[in-house]
Amino acid sequence: MKIHEYQAKEIFAKFGMPVPKGEVVMAPEEARNVAIRYGKPVMVKAQVHVGGRGKAGGIKFCKDPDEAFLNAQEVLGMDIKGLTVKKILVTEAVDIKSEAYVGIITDRLTKKNVFMVSPAGGIDIEQVARETPDKIMKCGVDPIYGLRPFEALKLARFIYPDIKIARQAVDIIMKLYNVFLGVDASLAEINPLVLDGNGMLVALDAKINLDDNGLFRHPELEKMRDLDAEEPAEIEAKKADLSFVKLNGNIGCIVNGAGLAMATMDLVKYFGGEPANFLDIGGSSNPEKVTAAMRIILNDPNVGVILFNIFGGITRCDDVANGIVQAVEKLNPRVPIVVRLTGTNEDKAKEILDKYNFPSTNSMEEVVKMAIKEVA
Ligand code: GDP
Ligand code: MN
Repeated sequence: MKIHEYQAKEIFAKFGMPVPKGEVVMAPEEARNVAIRYGKPVMVKAQVHVGGRGKAGGIKFCKDPDEAFLNAQEVLGMDIKGLTVKKILVTEAVDIKSEAYVGIITDRLTKKNVFMVSPAGGIDIEQVARETPDKIMKCGVDPIYGLRPFEALKLARFIYPDIKIARQAVDIIMKLYNVFLGVDASLAEINPLVLDGNGMLVALDAKINLDDNGLFRHPELEKMRDLDAEEPAEIEAKKADLSFVKLNGNIGCIVNGAGLAMATMDLVKYFGGEPANFLDIGGSSNPEKVTAAMRIILNDPNVGVILFNIFGGITRCDDVANGIVQAVEKLNPRVPIVVRLTGTNEDKAKEILDKYNFPSTNSMEEVVKMAIKEVA
């Protein structure tokens, strides 16, 4: 789950990290009022779940309250990478002496949480990694010992040779690690970490991605979910208790079991196709779930075919076949459907599908090839 900058900054502050003071507002008049109260220049910052807001025009310096009003008016309602700005953060403007990058992510390759720091902050860290990899220092954190102070110091000195500033950075890095563990994050990032005119470090931007599987431990964080900012299809899927991830291809996949869903996507890619989604309808053959899954997939205009891949264990294939028939009668899909059913009551399922002229097979390879042919 993604959260907004202002929410990530609230969490940072709770863990004792320095952040510029700010308030989130939804109207230009409120932005003006905040600027009046602060009595100094402010920044107006679009709150949307994407990076690069600065480049897109969603971050604006305002020298006085009137400018805050005008900039807020411009930014509210703005479209940034397909997302509409509904909230803005008004923060005190910071006098920037330097911008650095500090982040921590879960690294599957090394099976550790890895810190990354760079003195080249403020810009896209992927770009730094590509063009000037020597400007990045990484440190994998031992899961048992945690981040040790000497490691934090090594990272801090890489960005700030001046020990006085590095000491502040050590504190921030250690606290960022506490945030990362404390909220079950999969990513926590400060870009930029800024040295201000008074020689103090401050987290000018904040990004935290929360691990959905850890959310049940943090009901207060679940409340931060902003439905306006999420993929509508993923929200609908969550309501229907489906595991769904939208992708950019044209082959809609409906599969029972996460492992089989992954294998199906792999096979689609292997034969040269592009999956439109990951979707696990779970162990049940519940026709409502099949209908919900199909409706979500059909809402995606890219989808040119729906591929069912069902392995009948406890789930009975004939139940699923009936579910498919019901869903099709209800939704009257605009795209062809290809089905692979195998396992318990496979023969009965085939009879049902044949009756309605659905192309079906019991081979996974074959159904994937059938799907690819439909969108070729
Ligand atoms: P992002 O573009 O979505 O990553 O948004 P950021 O919050 O990182 O802001 C982008 C850039 O705007 C920063 O790297 C700064 O250069 C600039 N910026 C943001 N806040 C301030 C501020 O308080 N003062 C100044 N001078 N520049 C700022
Ligand atoms: Mn940033």
